[in-house]
Amino acid sequence: MLTRSALIYLSRQEGLKNFAARFAPFKKLTTRFIAGETTDEAVNAIRDINARGCSASFDHLNEGVHDVAGTEAEVREYLHLLELIDETKINSNVSIKLTQFGLEIDPELAYRNARRIIEDAKRRGNFVRIDMEGSNVTQLTLDIFRRLRSEFELNDVGIVLQSYLYRTEADARELLKVPARIRLCKGAYDEPAEVAYPDKKDVDANYVRVMQLLLASGTYHGIATHDPKMIDATIDFVQRAGIPKDAFEFQMLYGIRRDLQEQLARDGWGMRVYVPYGKHWYPYFMRRLAERPANIWFVLKNFLKG
Ligand SMILES: Cc1cc2nc3c(=O)[nH]c(=O)nc-3n(C[C@H](O)[C@H](O)[C@H](O)COP(=O)(O)OP(=O)(O)OC[C@H]3O[C@@H](n4cnc5c(N)ncnc54)[C@H](O)[C@@H]3O)c2cc1C
Repeated sequence: MLTRSALIYLSRQEGLKNFAARFAPFKKLTTRFIAGETTDEAVNAIRDINARGCSASFDHLNEGVHDVAGTEAEVREYLHLLELIDETKINSNVSIKLTQFGLEIDPELAYRNARRIIEDAKRRGNFVRIDMEGSNVTQLTLDIFRRLRSEFELNDVGIVLQSYLYRTEADARELLKVPARIRLCKGAYDEPAEVAYPDKKDVDANYVRVMQLLLASGTYHGIATHDPKMIDATIDFVQRAGIPKDAFEFQMLYGIRRDLQEQLARDGWGMRVYVPYGKHWYPYFMRRLAERPANIWFVLKNFLKG
């Protein structure tokens, strides 16, 4: 049986991508979670998402870029995306990963690259979300975010916190003082028990605690989850606290719980869909498989059928 850790380990083996992509059921499942390999496909997906009453966030898939020219290509891709959003009038912001911009080469390079994107987004009245990656880069990511936040406004750039990390409640309290716009998620990487709650019930309890802290702050945050228990806890909390529906937004991933995305949007809650696209879909896709055993069984069943 493939465990979550094993799948996350495989997600780091890019070499397996070509082998896996030749296998039709695997390839078919990727189209459920990835909007396509090209910008045009992603724009079309966002048009459809907007038509269903949801906003979006572009994610050009390519984490852990290890050459300067590669990071430059990522910057160009995002500048192009911001231009496209304006041209096509789709309702979308952008999400970036600092390792995509060179964090593992030189943090200063990642900072400068992220700064170029935020500067352009600000000029266009758009917003940049800095995704959170593995715990080896949490502190670096937060440091760069705080530096950028000191140079830009609240509505120019935001960050992500993960409820599986022990440190997250303290980080949330510090960031709220800045203040900062935060996306709260559970966390998608394989983390050791020294830094993250090993039990799902503790991750969930921390999620609810931090969600309440964020939403009571009055700043506009993103509650990113597909978990009906987290969503119910959020709705229950905001209703009891008299927090208006437009004071925050729910966020979900492309292809996951589309029914719930539409239901929440119909009920008048803000709903943003995160739209990953691009040629480097393999690590992101494997993390999605790791989150739900049924996805793995789908692949294995079809593999055995030959
Ligand atoms: C908008 C958005 C942005 C994110 N950004 C980040 C980030 O920057 N850093 C980071 O570490 N993580 C990020 N994540 C991923 C997140 O950390 C979780 O790994 C992921 O959302 C699954 O957790 P969950 O809250 O849905 O709860 P879970 O308890 O994992 O799942 C609850 C239910 O959701 C459904 N579900 C969840 N995942 C899947 C799946 N893959 N396939 C099918 N059904 C599924 C199932 O019905 C499941 O029972 C993001 C998630 C979202 C929604």
